[in-house]
Amino acid sequence: MKINEIFQSIQGETTFQGLPSVFIRSTGCNLRCNWCDTQYAYDDGTDYGVDEILKIIEKYHCKYVVITGGEPLSQKDAPALAEQLIKGGYRVLVETNGSRDISILHPDTIKIVDMKCPGSGMTENILWENMSCLSAHDEVKFVIADYKDYLWAKSVIESYKLTDICTVLISPVFNRLAPESLAKWIISDNLSVRLQLQIHKYIWGSDIRGV
Ligand code: SF4
Repeated sequence: MKINEIFQSIQGETTFQGLPSVFIRSTGCNLRCNWCDTQYAYDDGTDYGVDEILKIIEKYHCKYVVITGGEPLSQKDAPALAEQLIKGGYRVLVETNGSRDISILHPDTIKIVDMKCPGSGMTENILWENMSCLSAHDEVKFVIADYKDYLWAKSVIESYKLTDICTVLISPVFNRLAPESLAKWIISDNLSVRLQLQIHKYIWGSDIRGV
């Protein structure tokens, strides 16, 4: 599996926000979102076997492991890595861009599925079949660039009754949409979603890797 970086930080997003977590960032992504903040992970990386990654993770003695990218599900060993970590007693989150089949993951994997709003330019890549593979412990995330994105997210949430299935997260694109605007739209619609800000960027800034 080609890995861009492994590091420990504070989980900046999801309902696990604030927890110390180890991040395994895979190399490569099949999408090119307009506002991508992880372009450094498109190509650079080192090949590791699953066993080698497990040994590295052991050294952190950290309960929470996040497999992220890039797009981790573009790599064939990602499901095996998640399963081995789960068997090792870790709580495992897999952050995916929503264009790959999530049903291949171990049922105890906490799937964080990004839904690509129109502002990302990648909406046509959404694998809609994933909507029927969500469990109550999974989380669906919408990153919102503007009001058009918000209205699109709202319509998807309502069409698929997502808030009845799992946690729904809504974030503003960092430095592009004011959190206050997004908060006002959510309150005005009484939308049962969780507004989240990427707290690692507030702690360390938006240009620092490995946080
Ligand atoms: S899916 Fe993530 S890593 Fe891939 S282009 Fe979009 S923001 Fe960047």
